[in-house]
Amino acid sequence: MTETKRRRVMLKLSGEAFGGGQLGVNPDVVSALAREIAEAAKSVEIAIVVGGGNFFRGAELSQRGMDRGRADYMGMLGTVMNALALQDFLEQAGAATRVQSAISMTQVAEPYIPLRAERHLEKGRVVVFGAGAGLPYFSTDTVAAQRALEIGADVVLVAKNGVDGVYSDDPRVNPDAVKLDRVSYQEALTKGLKVVDSTAFSLCMDNGMPMQVFGMEPAGSVTRAILGEAIGTLVVN
Ligand code: UDP
Repeated sequence: MTETKRRRVMLKLSGEAFGGGQLGVNPDVVSALAREIAEAAKSVEIAIVVGGGNFFRGAELSQRGMDRGRADYMGMLGTVMNALALQDFLEQAGAATRVQSAISMTQVAEPYIPLRAERHLEKGRVVVFGAGAGLPYFSTDTVAAQRALEIGADVVLVAKNGVDGVYSDDPRVNPDAVKLDRVSYQEALTKGLKVVDSTAFSLCMDNGMPMQVFGMEPAGSVTRAILGEAIGTLVVN
């Protein structure tokens, strides 16, 4: 019997999606987000890379005098807290879940093992990747692109707060900026469209991985994007 291959997505959630604009984790916000993901997990294989900006960003701490590497490790540890919070609310919403961490901490998460992650996905478990790449000077956008490539995802879905896609210019600065339905990686990089990190854009460009950038509002958007609706902006070669 031939099994039809299910859609496999890599969802990038920024730290902002956990804190609701505040420091730390807002359980109401994460619970609503988890319900959206659990709904889509019934038919789609979902891997998630979580950011940590609701706790620390290494670059910001280093500007205020900390060693950059150490500050980046603090940032990575923040992403693990978000991963655990998301796991908890996903399980409450009925989705089987595993967390894998790029920094070993076996009491709280499995180590990052890509083949095992794929096995979890095949079994219908949502896999949440914490601790970024385990490397300072990286962002979780870039990690989402790298993990998507390594586990063979069909697309990287970048969920944004406060913006619903890629614009022709910075919409907060230029009132004439328009939302693009589709843009090439080359154009996004040349124009310096910073909605996603340039390293993430170039990694996807070099390896032909499509990316969809969309807004988390209104409610239901995360489910729709995971199920394959063309909301936001498609970034391709
Ligand atoms: N970070 C890192 N290496 C990684 C991923 C993350 O050093 O591979 C650190 C970095 O300091 C970053 C912080 O973790 O600022 C939080 O991640 P990010 O800024 O990507 O989170 P987001 O903006 O998505 O909330």
